[in-house]
Amino acid sequence: MTLTGVLVFAASWLFAVNLLGLGNTVGYHRLLTHRAFQCGAGTRAFWTLAGAMHGGSPMMWVGLHRLHHTKSDAPEDPHTPTKGFWAAHSGWLVGTTNPLLSILFALTGFGQQLVILVHDVQRILGLRQADWVSLCPDLKKERLMRWLDIPLVMPALFGLQLLLAWVVGGPWGILWLYLLHLFLTNSSWSVNSVCHWPKFGVQRWDTGDWSRDVWWMGVITNGESFHNAHHRYPRSARHALEGGQDLSWRVIQLMCALGLASDPWLPKKYRDAA
Ligand SMILES: [Zn+2]
Ligand SMILES: [Zn+2]
Repeated sequence: MTLTGVLVFAASWLFAVNLLGLGNTVGYHRLLTHRAFQCGAGTRAFWTLAGAMHGGSPMMWVGLHRLHHTKSDAPEDPHTPTKGFWAAHSGWLVGTTNPLLSILFALTGFGQQLVILVHDVQRILGLRQADWVSLCPDLKKERLMRWLDIPLVMPALFGLQLLLAWVVGGPWGILWLYLLHLFLTNSSWSVNSVCHWPKFGVQRWDTGDWSRDVWWMGVITNGESFHNAHHRYPRSARHALEGGQDLSWRVIQLMCALGLASDPWLPKKYRDAA
């Protein structure tokens, strides 16, 4: 690969990793799950589609995440490190608490997409129900959310990514896409593992669960690592309430300044400071 090629590879990867990562944090998490701010249909669709490139269907993600908040670190929590650090990180997606199998799965990069494909085939065969839909009656009213939850729509979207990556860059394009999904999945999962693990960070608020604020994860999680603050104030548009890197909050502020978003919710105590 030429020097220009390396630069294009790195720059486009950094752009994509930030944009799609924000699809998960600003879109799926703060907007769709917790309604932390208001925005128009176009902005909502934009962030939803950015999240759908790697996070599965929005209703599935939101449903699982709402279950995590209502049952945090209880046996019903889909991903709690009370069953093991690696089980909370990636093992829960494939039903294992074995650390080695969990790590191997986490390194596959595209593993989550394969799990989504298997689930979709099981839904078509009637072996699995989309039980997450009952946890997001608000999203069920939206045509885009229902459409993205149709079996095989998410795998088709991933198939398009593979095709495009191959057409543009051949094997290098596939490597680019692999590194993209490897980073995006592991940064998202690390909020469930690292930011619920008692050995890391601090617990500023007694939230009755294992959630922690882990400042050194702020950059790679777009601010989601201030996770104890998030469990204390789930609706807050800002997670780094006591300071720290929170790119998602900066983007929400920028959207408000540009008139693309409004009414970002913050806990009363932190409103003036923002
Ligand atoms: Zn949590
Ligand atoms: Zn949340």
